[in-house]
Amino acid sequence: MKAFSNHCTRRQFGGATATLVAAAALPELSAAPQNDFAVPFADAFPKFRIWDVHCHLGRPNITPAEHMTQLLGYADRVGIEKVVIAMGLTPHLANPKPEELRQRNEDMLAAVKAKPERALGLVFVSPLHVKESLAEMDRLLPYPNVVGLKLWIACRCNDPRIDPIVKKAAEYRATIHQHVWDNAVGNKPGESSPEDLVELARRHPSVHFVAMHSGGDWERGLRTLRKVRNITAEIAGCEPTSGYVEMAVRELGPDRVIYASDASGRSFASQLAKVHEARVSNQVKQKIFAGNFRRLAGM
Ligand SMILES: [Zn+2]
Repeated sequence: MKAFSNHCTRRQFGGATATLVAAAALPELSAAPQNDFAVPFADAFPKFRIWDVHCHLGRPNITPAEHMTQLLGYADRVGIEKVVIAMGLTPHLANPKPEELRQRNEDMLAAVKAKPERALGLVFVSPLHVKESLAEMDRLLPYPNVVGLKLWIACRCNDPRIDPIVKKAAEYRATIHQHVWDNAVGNKPGESSPEDLVELARRHPSVHFVAMHSGGDWERGLRTLRKVRNITAEIAGCEPTSGYVEMAVRELGPDRVIYASDASGRSFASQLAKVHEARVSNQVKQKIFAGNFRRLAGM
C-alpha cells in the first residue's frame, strides 16, 4: 500500500493514521477490501502499551462515572490502556475558588473510582489558594490512583506563590503537570509560557515538571524547554503535525517526551497519529506512549 507520508511536507497532518484509527472502529469500513488507495488497518501497527496522560470528562449532562464509560469505549477502539483525568466536569474554570477546586476534584475522584483499573487522576490546584490546594493534595494524593497535580491558568507558574505546592508534590512524588502556552496574540492573564516553566524548574532542580502542550507553538516551545533537564514535554493538543515528535525527541531526548491527547477536546486518533507516524524507533515510541510517564510516576 502507498504511505501517504511519502507526499507529506513537514507540517502536514498525520492524517493517514487518524483516518486509520477511526476506520478501525467501524466494522463496515474495516470490511472494505484494501487497495492502493486505502490506509493501513490498525493491525498493521506494532502493539504498544499506551497511557494517555491528559484527558477530561466533559459536560455535566452525565455523571463522571458515565463519562468514564464513554471515554474508555473510545480508548478501547484505539488501544489505549489507561487515561489520566483532571479538572472535573466542565466548564473548566480559569480561576477556581477553593470550593470549586474541591468540587472538580470530587468529579475526578468519582471518575477514577468508577474505573480504578483503567484511570488515574490529577489534583486540580491553584497558586492563588495555596492553603486549600495543599489541603486538597493531602486529601487526595494518598489515593493510589491519584498520581499528580494539574495547574492551569489561574496564575503564571514562575510566581513564587506556587513554591509550597511544588515542595509538597515532591514529598508525595506526585507528577506536576503545568499548562504552558504561547499565543501569537498574547496569553490569557495567569497563563504560563514555556519560559515561565523553565524559571520554575530552575528554582526546583530536584523536582520534575511536565510541560503540557509543549507550549502550543511547539517548535518554539521545545527549543525553550530543552534547556532544563527536569522538564518533560507533553504533546497534547494541536493538529497531528508531521515532525512534532521527531523534533521533541531530537531536542529533549527520547526520555523527556510524553504522549497525551487532551481528549475529549481533541480526538484520540488525531493525537496518536503524531507518535504512530513519527520517524523514530518503536522502542522510542513505547517510551513516549507510556514508559516515560510510568517512570516519572513510579508506576
Ligand atoms: Zn486539557
